[in-house]
Amino acid sequence: MLLTITTTYQPATDIGFMLRKNPTRCQDFMLPFGKAYVFYPEATEKKCTVALLLDIDQIGIVRGKQGPKSGMLDQYVNDRPYAVSSFMSVAISKVLGTALNGKCNQKPELVDTIMPLTAKLSVLPCRRGGEPLLRKLFEPLGYKVKAKREPLDTKFEEWGEGPYFTVEISRKTTLKELLNHLYVLIPVLDNSKHYFVSDDEIDKLMDKGKGWLATHPEKDAIARRYLKHRTSLAREALSRLMEASTLKDVTEELNLEEESLEKKISLNEVRLGTVLAVVKNSGASSVLDLGCGEGKLLRLLLKEKQFSKIVGMDVSVRSLEIANERLRLESLAPVMRERISLMHGSLLYRDKRIEGFDVATVIEVIEHLDAPRLAAFERVVFEFAKPKTVVLTTPNIEYNVVWDLENDDTIKKLRHRDHRFEWTRKEFEVWGQEISKRFGYNVRFLPVGDEDKRLGPPTQMAIFER
Ligand code: SAH
Repeated sequence: MLLTITTTYQPATDIGFMLRKNPTRCQDFMLPFGKAYVFYPEATEKKCTVALLLDIDQIGIVRGKQGPKSGMLDQYVNDRPYAVSSFMSVAISKVLGTALNGKCNQKPELVDTIMPLTAKLSVLPCRRGGEPLLRKLFEPLGYKVKAKREPLDTKFEEWGEGPYFTVEISRKTTLKELLNHLYVLIPVLDNSKHYFVSDDEIDKLMDKGKGWLATHPEKDAIARRYLKHRTSLAREALSRLMEASTLKDVTEELNLEEESLEKKISLNEVRLGTVLAVVKNSGASSVLDLGCGEGKLLRLLLKEKQFSKIVGMDVSVRSLEIANERLRLESLAPVMRERISLMHGSLLYRDKRIEGFDVATVIEVIEHLDAPRLAAFERVVFEFAKPKTVVLTTPNIEYNVVWDLENDDTIKKLRHRDHRFEWTRKEFEVWGQEISKRFGYNVRFLPVGDEDKRLGPPTQMAIFER
């Protein structure tokens, strides 16, 4: 099976820098299921084509090096050597991984360069959907699609047509985007994967689907088929996508709104300063910032040598991208870079990656969760992730009158359009006490910001310790 990518961007041979493959050489790579070859059938300044050819070890994959087999893979004679499938996605990530992940050390400006690109796949199975499905997947992404259906066997025309197409898709885009689209959509069209699909497949889908999947009209079908029809995984992926897409566009705007309101007393800085002091005093060396937003707390944490492992998690990809830029993660010295990472995830789902930390901070996040989801959050953080200390802040609704909020009364004068609720000091205390009893923590409460004698502080903080 063969994938070729052609560009007429000039100089076209620049594609070699992005792929980290020299256009004058033919290279081969051993993969668990066979051999991959990368070569350039054409490499001039005007036009350059790179080819990724896979030579699948048909006997090897059947004999079981590849774990559990099913259906078609049980037989030595199968279509895997010829059909573009999840093997190709793996090869893209192993062999063209730098370009797929948008890195290019020699010419970094090429990563975001939009260029005319054409990918040709021979042959791509479009199962259960044929050419209409192929178009429904690629056309909304802006590709021009050409497809030629291949007969099952040229010698036996009576066998009719198979699900196999020679496909050409063209568009002006970045190489990274093209590769990410192919990585996800190839196994979706083949409607199968050569390996067992587990929970981390959702992360792969979220990662490779960043920036396009949440708004794709066929996102349901893509998630279902990508996750091998494991409904529970597909459901989780879709709800994560939904959260990410609804939050993505509004988070930035809303954060600004919230910030300007609170700026008057620079509450934000006071809050972060207080959180930092509490986290430092807990003696922690690993810190997890849940709902880290654009990374303001992470930046403060990074300055403190005491913390050797700092992780920020958020459901909004946009916020994580901003955090990544603001923290300049790409250009940090390796010793600093090793200490910090960002992850995309939701606080509503149990996630092994957030287990085992000394401290978790949850700063101005819970009020963004609907009441029924708050219950899921409680278990995810206090029962499963179980950090030794949890530092959590939320607005004190009593204080809002001080700011003479201009919000409309129907939303009960909350501080921010996206807040689902805000609590009085009493409500927060009742909740905190209940959590501490239920999950075996001790809790104490601290005021944050200038306290009003009658109304209390603008922000309230609970510190839970095990
Ligand atoms: N802690 C940051 C950001 C607060 S804004 C700060 O203090 O500046 C609330 C953040 O919670 C947003 O970035 C939002 O994307 C995130 N968030 C909302 N629901 C979430 C969920 N279910 N899982 C993870 N993060 C969530």
